[in-house]
Amino acid sequence: MPNRLSNAGHIPQRMCVVCRTKIDKKKLIRFVLLNSEIVFDLNCKIEKRGYYVCNSNDCLQKLENSVKKILRSRNFNGR
Ligand SMILES: [Zn+2]
Repeated sequence: MPNRLSNAGHIPQRMCVVCRTKIDKKKLIRFVLLNSEIVFDLNCKIEKRGYYVCNSNDCLQKLENSVKKILRSRNFNGR
């Protein structure tokens, strides 16, 4: 673990739900799940629990499957 205090100018990182790589937030696309559907939150305006996916064809193609797994594992109620 790097020392948090000496890491002042660091870029926030998020994990892609498909490949589980932690990368620069700016390289990821944020989305939320509304009624079990993927809604891309391009302006980060939707105040719901957000998820992130790489901005790459590979991850975007697999996104639907990954989301299904998330929904199943969380027993998502569509709140
Ligand atoms: Zn990815």
